[in-house]
Amino acid sequence: MTSSESHEPGYVSLRSVSKAFGDVYAVNDLDLDIQSGEFFSMLGPSGSGKTTVLRMIAGFETVTSGTVHIDGENITDLAPFDRTVNTVFQDYALFPHMTIQDNVEYGLRTRKVPKDERARQASEAIDRVKLSLVADRLPHQLSGGQRQRIALARALVLRPKVLLLDEPLGALDKQLREEMQVELKTIQREAGITFVFVTHDQEEAMRMSDRIAVFNAGRIEQLGTPHEVYENPATAFVAGFLGISNLLDGEKAMALVGRSELVNIRPERIRLHGAGHKPEKDFSSVEGVVIEVAYTGANTITIIENSAGVRLISTQLNEELPGHKDSFAVGDRVVATWRSSHVATIPH
Ligand code: ATP
Repeated sequence: MTSSESHEPGYVSLRSVSKAFGDVYAVNDLDLDIQSGEFFSMLGPSGSGKTTVLRMIAGFETVTSGTVHIDGENITDLAPFDRTVNTVFQDYALFPHMTIQDNVEYGLRTRKVPKDERARQASEAIDRVKLSLVADRLPHQLSGGQRQRIALARALVLRPKVLLLDEPLGALDKQLREEMQVELKTIQREAGITFVFVTHDQEEAMRMSDRIAVFNAGRIEQLGTPHEVYENPATAFVAGFLGISNLLDGEKAMALVGRSELVNIRPERIRLHGAGHKPEKDFSSVEGVVIEVAYTGANTITIIENSAGVRLISTQLNEELPGHKDSFAVGDRVVATWRSSHVATIPH
């Protein structure tokens, strides 16, 4: 049995899927398997094709070639409303003149669910997103975060096997966004639904996902757990897109790590010490001068440059700085050290 034939509820499978808009391929020969009950994120820069993939799963966009399966059923040619998926958009798309309760009941009404039953199911969904107290209000009487939760309740009440979310938190401010990330994740775990989540925010994807597909120019550069894509990026693009990187190759890599292939050292792996520091066993080191220091609250980011002009970025938790005092200052001579085992080779 091939994976596209799995009949587990909420199993999404794309085979050789391409999408062309005129001459431009937004998605190119994509194979993708999303597991049942998984929180799966598609992460990538603007224009990398992630929304187009989501829209092809939803049925809002036809495929140019390839197939889409859900639970083993070939849904490639089905209309959106015949698919067992629902989509939550960034702009919520609530009906402004209907109460919250009526907004959530709406989809059940179109499915001809009897009145009492749909009231019960809608109340349960509103309860799940913790908004029972405002069920009688109109959408404009809610905050942005509350409207987003209602949009979610409206999708959840239809009990889709797969919920598609297109940058659903994009319109929220940072604090609300972080609260909603936790809530979304909790709701997903409790409901046991497959979530396919589009975002260009790498921290958001890392925080919420079981697995992440990193998109670039219509292709998946790497697919893995947050830990895998961060610690072992398959390409320089992935290393650069997820967090800050120190990418070195050729002579620079040879000088610092003793080999000339493309390597990456994450900034949090690099420790800074005063001039003259002797590295411990299993540590590599380089001497340099501090050229920039940035305080970001929890961390201090320091950039150093050695005599050959090679720059390294180091981030340290302020809590861990010696004596909790200030970091190094611009112009200080320092020794940067890192464990040799923390140098990651980038395969491509
Ligand atoms: P964003 O984060 O900005 O939404 P994305 O990664 O989701 O970006 P897509 O929206 O999937 O990217 O777009 C991928 C490519 O396809 C882009 O080059 C875009 O301009 C193009 N594209 C998307 N929709 C259409 C369309 N309806 N007509 C023509 N080109 C399109």
